[in-house]
Amino acid sequence: MINNEPIKKVSVVIPVFNEQESLPELIRRTRAACDLLTMPYEVILVDDGSSDDSALLMEAAASEPNSPVVAILLNRNYGQHSAIMAGFSHVSGDLIVTLDADLQNPPEEIPRLVEKAAEGYDVVGTVRQNRQDTWFRRRASRVINSLIQKATGKSMGDYGCMLRAYRRPIIDAMLHCHERSTFIPILANTFARRTVEIPVLHAEREFGDSKYSLLKLINLMYDLITCLTTTPLRLLSIFGSITALAGFALAVMLLLLRLFFGAEWAGRGVFTLFALLFMFIGAQFVGMGLLGEYIGRIYNDVRARPRYFIQRVVSSAPVTPSSQEKNS
Ligand code: UDP
Ligand code: MG
Repeated sequence: MINNEPIKKVSVVIPVFNEQESLPELIRRTRAACDLLTMPYEVILVDDGSSDDSALLMEAAASEPNSPVVAILLNRNYGQHSAIMAGFSHVSGDLIVTLDADLQNPPEEIPRLVEKAAEGYDVVGTVRQNRQDTWFRRRASRVINSLIQKATGKSMGDYGCMLRAYRRPIIDAMLHCHERSTFIPILANTFARRTVEIPVLHAEREFGDSKYSLLKLINLMYDLITCLTTTPLRLLSIFGSITALAGFALAVMLLLLRLFFGAEWAGRGVFTLFALLFMFIGAQFVGMGLLGEYIGRIYNDVRARPRYFIQRVVSSAPVTPSSQEKNS
């Protein structure tokens, strides 16, 4: 089924954390780009607890008469993805575009994203051309992207780029996910039917530094993994089984060689001890893996993601609202 419902309004959601130097330019360029659209739009700026003048600038932009800018101020810093989620909860458009506030994603690409989505895609992702980040960041993100691709089976080349467009049902589905830590591009893809990727430009950060320290990046990576899968927990038992089996094989081999070459060769039982140890360690990991399986299931229940989402109900009889809401 192709979702080619017409797009009547576009919402742009931008998380802002200490970006006072970029903000005026960002607002100007985003508005200029959106003015080229044939439909109405809104620009939702979410202040993620900035300690500079970002919030003031946003408020000023939003309180101009007839301004398409909406400012949402969070009381403290919750992180980029939580800030975007806060923005999502206030969108009124039926296509939602996210981008970064630091002008690394050119707002001029917005009309192209909208055009692509109008062809009937649920999610429009982007691949950064000539990516302007450090070598380390580029490498790390290439490895992570290929891992995600294997895990999700959705071929997307660049999960890190936040310049993306989502249809409203995808946003609604994401808002029903109650986990505290999340990674939006992946979460969106778990709900999307048709996805596509287009190349976009990527600029260097002009003002300030990246808001991600190494520690925050590591945290983001864990968010990404746990958002995607509980496989690492499962790996524990696989690793344990392999260790235990290898230990057992070693023990059998040692026993045979010991009978063949005599006690002197076997280091008077030291090797056998190792073999036994390996078996026990393996068994221990299997036990941990078992715990992991329980924890994984508890984790899935605790975050209580909706099991499914009904996009539309087609019926000749009038649909009662309660039958539409039974979706979690
Ligand atoms: N950001 C945020 N909260 C944070 C960190 C970042 O809202 O805790 C915003 C930031 O203002 C920017 C976007 O997320 O709009 C991406 O941040 P940044 O450019 O620092 O990340 P990088 O480009 O280095 O990945
Ligand atoms: Mg950036």
